[in-house]
Amino acid sequence: MSDAELAAAATARFREAFGAEPDGVWAAPGRVNLIGEHVDYAGGLSLPIALMHSTAVAVRARTDDRLRLRSHLGAWDGAVDEVAPGEPSGWPAYLAGVVWAMRRAGLCDSRFGADVAVVSAVPVGAGLSSSAALECALAIAVADLVGAPTDEAGRGALAAACVGAENEIALAPTGGMDQAIALCGKEGHALLVDSGDGTVAPVPLDLAASGLAVLVIDTRAPHRLVDGRYAERRRSVEEAAASLGVTTLRRATDADLVRLEDSVPRRRARHVVTEIERVRETLRLLASGDICDIGPLLTASHVSLRDDFEVSCPELDNAVDSALAAGAHGARMTGGGFGGSAIALVDDRDVDRVAMEVLSNARTRGLVAPAFLRLGTGGVAARRLVPVM
Ligand code: ADP
Ligand code: MG
Repeated sequence: MSDAELAAAATARFREAFGAEPDGVWAAPGRVNLIGEHVDYAGGLSLPIALMHSTAVAVRARTDDRLRLRSHLGAWDGAVDEVAPGEPSGWPAYLAGVVWAMRRAGLCDSRFGADVAVVSAVPVGAGLSSSAALECALAIAVADLVGAPTDEAGRGALAAACVGAENEIALAPTGGMDQAIALCGKEGHALLVDSGDGTVAPVPLDLAASGLAVLVIDTRAPHRLVDGRYAERRRSVEEAAASLGVTTLRRATDADLVRLEDSVPRRRARHVVTEIERVRETLRLLASGDICDIGPLLTASHVSLRDDFEVSCPELDNAVDSALAAGAHGARMTGGGFGGSAIALVDDRDVDRVAMEVLSNARTRGLVAPAFLRLGTGGVAARRLVPVM
């Protein structure tokens, strides 16, 4: 969907729900992570790219602390005062939580409320971060409506509020990478997200100029980040750091790993330590010019996530193995795992052929048919689509 189509769809949903015009429409993109997976909560480095697919919110401010939320998933009415951990549950938590967290951070006052209608072009629950796209679209909307800063520092504060909404209200224990790219991404760039010190830096990534594309393979296998397995992996990484006597695994080295006696914590930690090193190597290769040289690092990342971190699944392995067999330079699962999406770095002219190979192998193996998205040079950060009327 183009920006204009997305804005029109969100405005139409708003009019139908509330019988009035919104103050404006704002949007934020989904993402894929090029490399640096399951390291954000270990103070590590990630390199996400924004999708060209965004989530839009049409919003009208209120002055009575009420929220009226509408999406394709339903309707929710309530008050910001009633928002608490797990309350509301389900999709409204991602929106109500943002206003709650912005109020707590002093970014909007206690009277702020809003009518909100959501339309998304980001596949939901596909590991492409529809949750952060939703949060960040609303955060930028509220900031614009109340006059909170939206410069670089302001966006950092908004990203922190969105993480608070997701962790504390939606109760999804995710790191901060998704919100950083949704709010701070730049067209034609990946974003280096340093979860150790919270800084971000754009990294030029002109895929088209190199005759390359990123093929996104949405396996459509079930994907549930809010279940216990993500939290269990996160806990095991934190426990490994504690038993090595470091604040985060960012500070551990290969040599430290032998000090972890049990094989499971050692493999979990080995994934984190080697993955952070693969991100550093990716940055070195991108700086020296030839993007397709990073292919083997992407594939090594997948092997580590599959064998050491154990967060892959047959659908993701099929996507990666089939893409490589069809000539991809590299491929890996992206996002939290256990379903969701994979990416393959492919020559532009091979995109359709690689996709067909993944699809036909999925059929042969009795797996659900995947969906495909093509990624050029990435989208832009959270922004206003339609000026305030
Ligand atoms: P991902 O972020 O990878 O898509 P998550 O499980 O983190 O997967 O987030 C998906 C959840 O976010 C959905 O189940 C829903 O609660 C909420 N969500 C995302 N997009 C929308 C949308 N357009 N409308 C309503 N809720 C949404
Ligand atoms: Mg998410």
